[in-house]
Amino acid sequence: MNAEPFAATVLLPAERGGAAPDRIFDAYLFDLDGTIYLGGDLLPGAKRTIEQLRAAGAKTVFLSNNPTRDPDMYVRKLTGLGIPVDRNEILNTVVTTVLWLKSNHPNAVVFPIAEQPLIDALDEAGIRISDDPAEIEIVIASYDRGFNYRKLQIAFDAIWQHKRAILITTNPDRYCPFPEGKGEPDAAAIVAAIESSTGTKCVANMGKPDRTMIDTVLSALGVDAQNTIMVGDRLETDVRMAVNAGMSSALVLTGDSSLADLESLDAAFWPTFVLDGVGSLVPGGGRNEI
Ligand SMILES: [Mg+2]
Repeated sequence: MNAEPFAATVLLPAERGGAAPDRIFDAYLFDLDGTIYLGGDLLPGAKRTIEQLRAAGAKTVFLSNNPTRDPDMYVRKLTGLGIPVDRNEILNTVVTTVLWLKSNHPNAVVFPIAEQPLIDALDEAGIRISDDPAEIEIVIASYDRGFNYRKLQIAFDAIWQHKRAILITTNPDRYCPFPEGKGEPDAAAIVAAIESSTGTKCVANMGKPDRTMIDTVLSALGVDAQNTIMVGDRLETDVRMAVNAGMSSALVLTGDSSLADLESLDAAFWPTFVLDGVGSLVPGGGRNEI
């Protein structure tokens, strides 16, 4: 990591993100890949920053759009990297989908087109799952590598034939990026198949950048948007979600988005802060030490 003063101050005036935060927020929502770690390694300052924020009394929560992972997998990964986390500090779209259903449609019968972690979490939460189109009330389109024609037909019958079910999705991603320029079709591909065959629209999505995720997270944490900050490496998801929710955001330049991306972006969608890395988040926190 470059030890020079961060590049953001060179290109951006202070009121447009060229300054580090000067206070501790009540809660910090962190993206993971490109923000806290890159692949299998912690990014500079991540461990110290989390420790300092917790010592100052701030809540720390980690967000992910990936609905194919059990939250426990993130607990193991972060703890193994030296950042011990509790299961309730992990909010991926498995968790946000279940929380949203419990507060908005607690008695609904759902049909998840999803992988096992979401199905298990729905089960655990006591949400009724059915593959009978006559009784399905909510079709959940997710990132499902077991997607097939039978599942599409059930969704179609529930929505189009019985005119009963609504369509929601865990996350809006078109594909999940893999190393070496590879990827896999993600939940948006399944949403598109159902939308195009039924002529209906997906009515809610539980991942970044939709503010449903923020609302669900804030109500689970018991904090308000004004005293919460979203920290992430992607302008179009992490920062956009914070902008949508009217909360502060910090873009870290250790992952996907760059200063060049900012220049081509409408200023209404700019982050509150632009940082060289997560280590610059704590006022006077000694950003260059791991
Ligand atoms: Mg990221």
